[in-house]
Amino acid sequence: MDWECVIGLEIHAQLATKSKIFSGASTAYGAEPNTQACAVDLGLPGVLPVLNREVVRMAAKFGLAIGAHVAERSVFARKNYFYPDLPKGYQISQYELPVVEGGHLDIELEDGETRRIGVTRAHLEEDAGKSLHEDFHGMTGVDLNRAGTPLLEIVSEPELCSAREAVAYMKKMHSLVRYLEICDGNMQEGSFRCDANVSVRPKGQKEFGTRAELKNLNSFRFVERAIDFEIERQIAVIEGGGEVVQETRLYDADKGETRPMRSKEEANDYRYFPDPDLLPVELDRGFVEEVRKTLPELPGEKMERFVTHYGLSRYDAGALTASREMGDFYEAVVKASDGDPKLAANWVMGDLSAFLNKHGKEITESPVSAEMLGGMLKRIVDNTISGKIAKDVFEAMWNGEGDADTVIESKGLKQITDTGAIEGIIEQVIADNPKQVEQYRAGKDKVMGFFVGQVMKASKGKANPQQVNELLKAKLG
Ligand code: ADP
Ligand code: MG
Repeated sequence: MDWECVIGLEIHAQLATKSKIFSGASTAYGAEPNTQACAVDLGLPGVLPVLNREVVRMAAKFGLAIGAHVAERSVFARKNYFYPDLPKGYQISQYELPVVEGGHLDIELEDGETRRIGVTRAHLEEDAGKSLHEDFHGMTGVDLNRAGTPLLEIVSEPELCSAREAVAYMKKMHSLVRYLEICDGNMQEGSFRCDANVSVRPKGQKEFGTRAELKNLNSFRFVERAIDFEIERQIAVIEGGGEVVQETRLYDADKGETRPMRSKEEANDYRYFPDPDLLPVELDRGFVEEVRKTLPELPGEKMERFVTHYGLSRYDAGALTASREMGDFYEAVVKASDGDPKLAANWVMGDLSAFLNKHGKEITESPVSAEMLGGMLKRIVDNTISGKIAKDVFEAMWNGEGDADTVIESKGLKQITDTGAIEGIIEQVIADNPKQVEQYRAGKDKVMGFFVGQVMKASKGKANPQQVNELLKAKLG
């Protein structure tokens, strides 16, 4: 039997506010345990939550960016459950009336196709604290620094059809929230994570199969592996005559498998009800229009502009707009090189990205600035150096040996474009290789490559390759 899978993601993006969603405590990462939890976060009796305006502004900005409806009225609700890292005994979230409804995100697939994925809703909620098991023997520590940190939970429609699509969607969402500057996107610190809902059904069947929810996936690689494992597991269960049970599962990265955590609770287990301590959030159109004015150029728009303005392929444009910093760097390179956007794209995605990866650096930390790279491209375009020599120049710039002109000068890398000088080298090579000359003249065209190689070698890579080709043909012909 042929199977297909259905996936829906719930992404938790931590909103990049200075203080918490309902208190003035700091949200800064990495503080000593329980130094950033105030009376409100601790759930002490008699305290009252006060909504952080910035959180609402960020959620509205997100809603506008995905073409969603930003609700005129949304309501905070209490989601009741007991857990040591939740001192109030309930989490403040939004249930029936979320702040963002509908909207969509377009993802580019590897075959060049674009797919539109629906977003069901995005709601505001507070994060819980953290249980610490490692440093305590036979006990559990609780760190409430995280309690009350603002989260935007973004719920997708069940419209993703493979682990790869799910990752493409998550990456696009990651890029979007960073463009919008509403989330720092730091996945190691837990600022951006997701739960994946996965089910399988026989190909062609309309009804969804029973789903499992894979909790707290905090890397793109884990999302892909966990979903792939889960799809195979569910198919094996059904083909073995069993039934998939609706449950919450945990991904074990070391073992590369998912395992049951708890049976899935239904919404009514949580006894949701409107939080009587908080007023409904009412947004007037004026506020929403003010927020709209703060929207930056979005990744999709930037990509389209790169395609039409710089003549790049959709694939290249997509890679260069994956982050705002990458797009800015690329445009600065193009500007500094005055021209050849395609060459600039190749260098940014090629050598530069390879060096950044190898040295574990972000583009904002590149020792070769956009101006330096652009300056070097200028020297390729005006034939001062060949593309091959440029690789050496780039490496020297990376190692702090100065800008392109300095490196070219100090290392004597200037391309030989003087026809007389190249002819001299060619004559020597021809004189040294009579056998190959004979072969070439007898019609063996392939020998040309040998001659080009010899001339380039004799010139230490500095002869202009185009001139070498032309002059060789003339001399040998
Ligand atoms: P809950 O509140 O219990 O987590 P929701 O109905 O809000 O459940 O759905 C959560 C996520 O699960 C959504 O992203 C939705 O698209 C997805 N989903 C719902 N049903 C299925 C299914 N049968 N298979 C895969 N994903 C599903
Ligand atoms: Mg859920």
